[in-house]
Amino acid sequence: MATVVLKPGRDKALRRRHPWVFSGAVARVQGRPGPGETVTVVDARGRFLAQAAYSPQSQIRARVWTFRDDAVIGPAWFRERLQQALALRQAVLPPADTGQRLVFAEADGLPGLIVDRYADTVVVQFLSAGAEFWRAAIVQALRDLIPVRHLYERSEGEARALEGLPPRRGPLADTPPPPRAVTIHEAGLTFTVDVYHGHKTGFYLDQRPNRALVRAWARDRHVLDVFAYTGGFSVHALAGGAAEVWAVDASAAALERAATHIAANGLPQARFHAQVGNAFEVLRAWVQQQRAFDLIVLDPPKFASRAAQVPKAARGYKDINRLAFLLLRPGGLLFTFSCSGALPRDLFQKIVADAALDAGRTAHIVADLSQGPDHPIPLAYPEARYLKGLLVRVQE
Ligand code: SAH
Repeated sequence: MATVVLKPGRDKALRRRHPWVFSGAVARVQGRPGPGETVTVVDARGRFLAQAAYSPQSQIRARVWTFRDDAVIGPAWFRERLQQALALRQAVLPPADTGQRLVFAEADGLPGLIVDRYADTVVVQFLSAGAEFWRAAIVQALRDLIPVRHLYERSEGEARALEGLPPRRGPLADTPPPPRAVTIHEAGLTFTVDVYHGHKTGFYLDQRPNRALVRAWARDRHVLDVFAYTGGFSVHALAGGAAEVWAVDASAAALERAATHIAANGLPQARFHAQVGNAFEVLRAWVQQQRAFDLIVLDPPKFASRAAQVPKAARGYKDINRLAFLLLRPGGLLFTFSCSGALPRDLFQKIVADAALDAGRTAHIVADLSQGPDHPIPLAYPEARYLKGLLVRVQE
């Protein structure tokens, strides 16, 4: 096995069980590891630190599989890690919810591997050289441990490109292609998921607890769901007795699906209004028209995927939050989110505060919001916490 030797003093993160070795921390590599091959990581004095997957093209040069030197990285090891990930979901999620993130990469000790289950379909993403290297073993472990009919790969996106891997998609392990619309249940409600073209692997599983919270606060309120996608929040708001819901999204197809979700759940379609358009422009126009709402959800796409994009992203977040504050009635509630991992939570709160200030509103934080428990946050790997949100109440 090849060995990655760290520079003096660069072993601190690994000793705290953080799973990344940055290229700048590497003194030298002994041997010629190929992409994804398992390497031993040692400190400057040659003491064992971890076994990791080597990523020659990435700034993150190695991703830790284990901090044990007696572990054997191979099929049995992947099976065990997967079992641990499944056990966590069983402990923290309602079993009747059939959309679940089963593996959340580094957060489950499986760097670069995403596994989402939608009822009888499992969608897999191999996003790092290490996950790619072990794909056969991982697919076998998934087959053995998760009894579903369809196993489908959607290895795409920026993360994979940074590892120097081309995109790839298609059925795995000779399973039949998944249906065009996969039906899942969440909190007793029904949704359909397009695992071929939907965002991420098809559904925003991470917002589960926040959708439940919107449902709990929605009764008799006039709701605005901005960046609504397929209506996750809209459906929950109507299920919670909202007076009406306006959903705004740039994607007509997403909003059409949202409308089918309202109907499929037997919710009053007359109370649901979809507006296709750029959220910034739509909200600006509605401010002009002096429209007003009692509850607004702002769940924008990732504005910043790395630190360099944060200043520009901050302006976008501030602008959209300012418009939302201007549209809220006194006593109104704002559920505002950022899924940009590069944007720190404190900075997000400052941006929301600045937005309220500019809008001339006084507001209080009612609750601090985060991702659902199937997107776990290891104490040793706080970067796993990418979704942050605030429930804010505007003063009368
Ligand atoms: N709230 C959704 C997820 C939102 S994802 C849920 O819980 O399921 C972000 C959404 O923002 C996507 O549907 C995308 O189509 C939309 N979007 C991106 N940029 C936009 C813009 N400028 N105006 C309106 N919608 C936009």
